[in-house]
Amino acid sequence: MSAQESTPAAASHPLALAPVAAPPASVDGFVREFLRNLNFERGVALSSSAPNDRYMALAYTVRDYLMARWLEDQARQRELQAKGVCYLSAEYLLGRQLDNNLLAARLTEVATEAMVACGIDIDELRQQEVEPGLGNGGLGRLAACFIDSLATMSVPSIGYGIRYEYGIFRQTFVDGQQVEQPDAWLTLGSPWEFPHPEAAQKIFFGGHTEKTTDEQGVETTTWVPGWHVLAVPYNYMVPGYHNGRVNTLRLWRAVASNAFDLRIFNSGDYEEAVRAQTFAENISKVLYPEDSTPQGKELRLQQQYFFVAASIADFLDHQLSADFDLENLPERVIFQLNDTHPVIAVPEFMRVLVDERGMEWDAAWAITQKCFAYTCHTLLPEALEVWPVDLLGRLLPRHLEIIYRINEEFLLEVRERFGDDELRIRNMSIISENPRSVRMAYLATVAGAKVNGVAELHSQLLREKVLPDFDEFYPGKFTNVTNGVTPRRFVRLANPGLAGLITEALGAGWTVDLERLRGLEAFAEDPEFRVKFAEVKRANKRILSDVLRERDGFVLNEDHLLDVMVKRLHEYKRQMLKLLHIVTEYEGIVSGRVEASSVQPRTFIFGAKAAPGYAMAKRIIHLINAVGSVVNDDPRVEGRLKVLFPPNYNVTLAERVIPAADLSEQISLAGKEASGTGNMKFALNGALTIGTDDGANVEIRELVGDDNFFLFGMTEPEVEALWAKGYKPAEFYQADSGLRRAIDLIASGAFSDGDRSVFEPVVSNLLYDDRFMVLADYSSYIAEQAKVDAAYGDQDAWTRASILNVARTGFFSSDRSIRDYIDRIWHTPPIL
Ligand SMILES: *Cc1c(COP(=O)(O)O)cnc(C)c1O
Repeated sequence: MSAQESTPAAASHPLALAPVAAPPASVDGFVREFLRNLNFERGVALSSSAPNDRYMALAYTVRDYLMARWLEDQARQRELQAKGVCYLSAEYLLGRQLDNNLLAARLTEVATEAMVACGIDIDELRQQEVEPGLGNGGLGRLAACFIDSLATMSVPSIGYGIRYEYGIFRQTFVDGQQVEQPDAWLTLGSPWEFPHPEAAQKIFFGGHTEKTTDEQGVETTTWVPGWHVLAVPYNYMVPGYHNGRVNTLRLWRAVASNAFDLRIFNSGDYEEAVRAQTFAENISKVLYPEDSTPQGKELRLQQQYFFVAASIADFLDHQLSADFDLENLPERVIFQLNDTHPVIAVPEFMRVLVDERGMEWDAAWAITQKCFAYTCHTLLPEALEVWPVDLLGRLLPRHLEIIYRINEEFLLEVRERFGDDELRIRNMSIISENPRSVRMAYLATVAGAKVNGVAELHSQLLREKVLPDFDEFYPGKFTNVTNGVTPRRFVRLANPGLAGLITEALGAGWTVDLERLRGLEAFAEDPEFRVKFAEVKRANKRILSDVLRERDGFVLNEDHLLDVMVKRLHEYKRQMLKLLHIVTEYEGIVSGRVEASSVQPRTFIFGAKAAPGYAMAKRIIHLINAVGSVVNDDPRVEGRLKVLFPPNYNVTLAERVIPAADLSEQISLAGKEASGTGNMKFALNGALTIGTDDGANVEIRELVGDDNFFLFGMTEPEVEALWAKGYKPAEFYQADSGLRRAIDLIASGAFSDGDRSVFEPVVSNLLYDDRFMVLADYSSYIAEQAKVDAAYGDQDAWTRASILNVARTGFFSSDRSIRDYIDRIWHTPPIL
């Protein structure tokens, strides 16, 4: 880090000159290192240690094995000065670290045996780890998968983000309703982080700008900020899988610079003295829930600027060689903007180059346009981030000036190309009117060398529907990189049974070359293999059953078809559609129209958090729980339908639920889900998908084949056509008796002790608004679910389809995504 760098230690002792060595990778070596950590780092004896002590000591020990490589890689990346990626993301949904790091370092067996030798149950220690939930959902998990792949593929890179003191809230249910608890993940200490307060960066805010003109008439602008905070880096190891590489994730924590104003304190105003500290430290206090209300939006802009300014300064000050010529930056770095959250990095980079490094504007802009690339993650126009000009100007006055100038010059170019087409100019302006705001997606598109969507369909719609003028103006700028997930976490760690079976069939190597799963196609035709595959699925259900009993007191029937919908709660994802299917099945039984004994036994598992300010999403959670408690307790159902909703869906739970699933619910309205990554995790673990033609579902279906995928619902063009014609949900309600009975049952108060008012808002939203066309897709969904039931009746055929899903979805490894980023956007070859 910087302090060490600026004054390198002039060592002469031979030990200091030798490279650091890892402890011996034997059980004895591991035990010795573990006990040393327990004694010297935790200050306890084994006999008097608490589980947390033992977990911490185990984590430290794993760190010790990775340390030599980490130090080497940091030195090598600085030495080589090869082109690398700075991945800028406001979210990293990492999941637990212990098992991942053991696996990467090939230490799983040694550590397990070493713990046995110490009389310790390593599983108990695993349970100690609180996962760092520094993200909301798919976008943050994608960032975590990408840094894993970058390390595994030896691509020089740093992940930059925010070390939130409180990550995504912990969800509990009280009377079926979501209650949020703070996620105090740091309470017992985090063994995986390395704070470096001495390397803090000063981050400025507010104030005003001043212009001065020198004798040659050259104008310079100085930003005179009003206040600042310190950004303290916390480093995390990102070990590659079995390749001896360890990359870095650097998360920033906000700390007050004059934490303790002695003058104020001495005058007796203790509260005022700590107020400044609290104000500054709020910046990295909590992760923002998506879809939250505008309150506190200013804090969110502070967070965004805080982390990108710190990251850019860190890169320029500490990652470049001392004599680096900034003109060569495009050959040295690409900053990948994960959604619009880090886009304020663009004017910040310009400010640093022009105001601080004295570069000409045009030269700086040419460099900037080569050093940034932007990933768009949405199609919902309302989800494209905008910042009111007055807020931005107050918080970052110099950046607003820079944005104005970028926009002015950009619009001049637009005029040159298209003439004075005022409508087009207004549509393309980075600044929108009423209220005057900065469109961050437009700024990113103008500044980025490339703009990518996250699945084929999404990228196409992005070009055609969201940014068509930009696509016309910048031919070749738009591209696609379909998302992926890391097979290390989501197959190897989450599904050791399946991983073992694959290795038995195909040999090792598939973990870093997932297309090799194709080799399983032949095994799908082998009855013996199908039996073993089905046994693995069953064993995974048993594991999940144990987890849910322990965690939530649930009983899981392992003979049921396990039907799973886990993802953030959002109307566009259409948990309501899933619920209408369940209510339809239930209504059929209790009305006597369907024999309970003729129903395919199914357990429905939901996992979903609702943004705390999203009232409709919270009502839907309440309704799921309400339906669950009625259905589960109704003797007429004869236990053939079960609805389980374990609270607090997170990466740790995903790793247990997904490998056990038979059916994956991916039922968003076509054109609304950018990609989805949950869909990929399920297919790779052998669940069959019931899904719409949306996001990456399209590519999953193309790969696995129509026979191995349950497709339903309108296509995106059909959705558009229905909107154009005028969508009236009540007409669908009238036209389908099953739908009518399901909605009427909810409206009747059957799931709310006869109180019709409780779920009235949900019902009327469906009947009179239904923005996401649940009712329009209902009949097609129900018909397809009947096909699911029929297909599940032939277990052997189902297993065959399940194997083919695994065999044909190797494409969705995040290694492939990263290869696509390298080929299409980054041009950062791996280092050997
Ligand atoms: C993969 C994942 C997601 C994303 O799921 P989608 O179905 O793609 O929305 C969200 N949360 C967690 C914990 C995940 O692991």
